[in-house]
Amino acid sequence: RAKSGGRGRACTFEAAMDIELHAKRQLEHDLRHAVAKGELFLVYQRIVDTSSQEPCGYEALLRWRHASRGVLAPADFIAAAEESGCIIPIGIWVLEEACSEAASWRTPLTIAVNISPVQFLMPNLVEQFSHILAKTGLQPDRLELEITETALFHDRAAVLSTLGQLRAMGIRVVLDDFGTGYSSLANLRDFPFDKLKIDRRFLAGIGADPTIRALFENVIEMASTLNLPVIAEGVETQEQLAILHASHPAQMQGFLFGKPEAAPSSRAPLKAIA
Ligand code: C2E
Ligand code: MG
Ligand code: MG
Ligand code: MG
Repeated sequence: RAKSGGRGRACTFEAAMDIELHAKRQLEHDLRHAVAKGELFLVYQRIVDTSSQEPCGYEALLRWRHASRGVLAPADFIAAAEESGCIIPIGIWVLEEACSEAASWRTPLTIAVNISPVQFLMPNLVEQFSHILAKTGLQPDRLELEITETALFHDRAAVLSTLGQLRAMGIRVVLDDFGTGYSSLANLRDFPFDKLKIDRRFLAGIGADPTIRALFENVIEMASTLNLPVIAEGVETQEQLAILHASHPAQMQGFLFGKPEAAPSSRAPLKAIA
């Protein structure tokens, strides 16, 4: 009895694994065709200047209109794209789409693009970037590249060389999701970033907890010692805004100022920016 029960459980477990593996394969298969089928699109979320609360740029965020599953967010497919290598063509598509969108704006606001550590470590990254900038006509100083710390844990010399070449082209590099994961002071000191984006999970706890608030203020102070402007992401409430007024990061982003939405150039009636 005990034996057959055990076998039964094992079978159920294996069946579940099978289903999971099958779903993963299916996702990877669908992903491989997503670019060609035009199923990917970008939404744009504004970034505001803290003093004026006017938009100074937009962050491009990837979405996938899946044929049967509806619109998927990055959390549903980026990991699979990274594992399967699909992230490379997808990342190139994202960059070109975002740059050509921003190049069409009447006002020269910045465009921030997220880049996967997998793509960041590709040897021909710099050539790809200069090719896409030339093709879309976007001024390099309007492009901000958002990378996370996982991109730094590889061949240090290669990372430094890539960062240096991108910055020499005029592209700015932002360290995204700071304050979670392995965030380390040494990374800020050793790698030449242009801006620091503090993770929204950090800000999420700020109202309730005076310790988090003090930590948050310390990060901003530390960044200012390093001459690094800070952007606070995930600003959702007036309460958070009031706190940020005191600590004063250079820029802010969050649902309070605007959700990710259709490309500014396609919105009607055309607002000031497009
Ligand atoms: P991220 O770059 O840190 O982007 C911020 C995420 O927080 C976005 O989620 C955005 O929609 C969400 N967000 C913004 N303001 C608020 C707020 O006030 N409250 C809350 N609760 N959330 C807010 P999204 O679009 O689902 O993207 C998640 C992550 O996926 C991004 O984090 C980024 O790491 C990655 N990602 C997005 N687009 C791309 C892309 O084109 N390429 C790559 N490689 N990764 C991407
Ligand atoms: Mg980002
Ligand atoms: Mg972030
Ligand atoms: Mg994030």
